[in-house]
Order: sequence, then structure tokens, then C-alpha cells
Amino acid sequence: MEQIIKNTVDALKKNNFDVRYYETSKEAVDELLKEIKPEETVGIGGSMTIKTLELDRLLKERGNAVHWHWLEATQEDMDKARHTAANADVYLTSTNALTQDGKLVNTDGMGNRVAAMFYGPKKTIIVCGSNKIAENVDAAMERIENNAFKNARRLKLNTPCAINQSCIDCNSPQRMCNITTIIRKKPMRKDIMVVIINEELGY
Ligand code: SF4
Repeated sequence: MEQIIKNTVDALKKNNFDVRYYETSKEAVDELLKEIKPEETVGIGGSMTIKTLELDRLLKERGNAVHWHWLEATQEDMDKARHTAANADVYLTSTNALTQDGKLVNTDGMGNRVAAMFYGPKKTIIVCGSNKIAENVDAAMERIENNAFKNARRLKLNTPCAINQSCIDCNSPQRMCNITTIIRKKPMRKDIMVVIINEELGY
């Protein structure tokens, strides 16, 4: 394991998170399918990592009830899926950044994803490629700002970052950076598992 990843794993453990490390996505997916029981309901927060790993499809195929607004076609159904996901047995998502001192840093437009990370579902599983490791909270924020344009383009938003690839802390009506959270240590009465994969996943 590379030293930076090792430092991050150790710091996360010190902050009371349950941490797993895998060299490949395949190993991680195999273990996640064992970790999540077939009878558990699964909510998913917006995540390119989860989409790339096709965990929604794999879980559905083997019988889990999966609630993910990305799988819905209308705004009404997307809202329902967000609400149901927030009360699922397991919440599956990624993180925008993971710091070497063991913190999870995220920025959201609506807040459903970040809220469910720390409150609601009994257990949250955060799957994260090693590309998302940042030195500290400042570097994590920089990482989030530098990569935000990719989400803006994916969502076809009319924001300055979508056009110029850089953040100007805009006042756009479609601004997607409205809530930033730092989970410093495992919250009370909540299980959070952080799964680090030594691959580039998401952005
Ligand atoms: S604040 Fe505005 S410009 Fe900056 S990343 Fe967010 S949406 Fe883009």
C-alpha cells in the first residue's frame, strides 16, 4: 500500500471509521456484495464511482431493493427516490474528497447526499478511488472546486464553471455548490464504512 493511502487509512481508523482497502474495483465490489445483505434496502447518493462500479445493477439483480434518483425519469420520482434512499438500511455513495488526516469533505447542491452520509440510514458505505485523497481540508476544497466543472457539464448546467472549467464562486441560478460538509469523526449512533480502492474513480 502506498504511504499516502496508508496514512489516510490510519487517520480514518483513528477517527473511528471502519476502513477497507482494495487494490482493484473487482475485489471491492465482491466484498461489498457480501457486506450488504440481500434483504437490506439500499439508497444511493449521486456518485459517478457507484455508477462506474455498476453497484446499483448488481445489487438489484441479486434482489436488493435499490433507491436511486439517477434511475428515475421524472422530478417527482427523483424526489421520492431521494426520500426513500434517506431511510434505507444502507446508504451507498462516494465522497468528493478524503483527507490524509481522516476527514470526508463534500459539496452538494441539494444536500440529500451529504445529509444521508451522516444522518438517516443506519449505515453508510463510502466508496472512494485513491485519486480523491487530498492532503488536508484546504486541499480537499481546492480539489472539489477544480473538478466541479465536470459535474456541471454532466448535468448540463448553465454555470460559469461549465463554460470556463474554473470556479468563480458564482451566483448562478443553477449553482450546484450550496452545502459543504466536513465529517471529522464518525458521528454518534451511525456506522460509516470507507472503502478505498487504489484506482482512479469518479471526480
Ligand atoms: S460555485 Fe458556481 S462556478 Fe463555482 S463550481 Fe459551483 S457552480 Fe461552478
